[in-house]
Amino acid sequence: MKMHNFNSGPSILPKEVMEQAAAAIYDFNGVGLSILEIGHRTSWFGAVMDEARALVKELMGIGDAYEVLFLHGGASTQFMQVPMNLLDTDETAAYIDNGIWGTKAVKEARLFGNAVVVSSTKDKNHSYIAKAFTVPAGVKYLHYTTNNTVEGTQWHSFPATDVPLVADMSSDIFSRPFDYSKLALIYAGAQKNMGAAGVNIVVVKKDMLGIKRAIPAIMNYRNHIEAGSLLNTPPVFAVYVALLTLRWIKREGGLAEMEKRAKERAALFYDTLDALPAFKPLVVKEDRSMMNATFTTVRPELEDTFVALCKQEGMVGVKGHRSVGGLRVSMYNALPLSSVQAIVDLMKDFSDKNA
Ligand code: PLP
Repeated sequence: MKMHNFNSGPSILPKEVMEQAAAAIYDFNGVGLSILEIGHRTSWFGAVMDEARALVKELMGIGDAYEVLFLHGGASTQFMQVPMNLLDTDETAAYIDNGIWGTKAVKEARLFGNAVVVSSTKDKNHSYIAKAFTVPAGVKYLHYTTNNTVEGTQWHSFPATDVPLVADMSSDIFSRPFDYSKLALIYAGAQKNMGAAGVNIVVVKKDMLGIKRAIPAIMNYRNHIEAGSLLNTPPVFAVYVALLTLRWIKREGGLAEMEKRAKERAALFYDTLDALPAFKPLVVKEDRSMMNATFTTVRPELEDTFVALCKQEGMVGVKGHRSVGGLRVSMYNALPLSSVQAIVDLMKDFSDKNA
């Protein structure tokens, strides 16, 4: 039985992407070699990398001021690689701390320069987005997390600032039309809306680069840019799966279509959640994420029972992140509405019996 996949990442991928990736493991584009066997400096892989980088720019609607890189490491690597490349030791960056990933990002930045938290939502367990804040004069950039995967909140507008914005978009990249040109640097791990784990995408405005401090060669964005994102052996298979996923997004109708589907899924889920007495949401209504819905049972002792029931019905990934508990349903680009229907039906039944 195929599971309903509500995992927060690695998470659901489109069926055709998996079929194409599986076929390429045996024979990549009919060349007689597996995608796992081809050299990264072949023209075959060169074409994959070129198309993937171009598609990112096309979907983001950004031009030559930006460079697109596919780099090793999870998004966590970018928590340190961003300040390592953007921030000199005598400079200051501002951070918005809206969740555990933002908290980790600021901790890493402090290894490279000054990092000030201009807004924190820790006071209320990160259950909302604080939109009002003041950024001190002269900061190099303002870092924020567009979608808080663990807590279930999402920025539905841009932070109001004139400072160059750096965004961790790991869990909502390519899920909606978005003015990417408002950002100076965007990064995301691929394993939610963009493919398989093992590769990061970094999109950087070239004029942000050029600090004085020495940067280890393999960590230096400028070296990767000069090498066309082929400085060393890239995660070839993960880049290929990202390309297949990007092609799928474009074929399905692009970011407008992704948003339409996300809105349908989120409306079905949240409308049901709000109507059921046995469950309650964990975040304020206006800041709810369209990708990760967090909630819990009104009677705490029933949480595990609900998770067990989901498992029994072939639904995985419903337990909240280990650091915060509760329940979480992740609804990324490839999740069909039928999976959301299945879990809301189960919730209704559960609520009737347990309210
Ligand atoms: N940032 C966000 C918003 C995330 O959701 C995650 C992981 O879920 C990370 C960073 C860390 O990603 P990784 O495990 O790829 O390092």
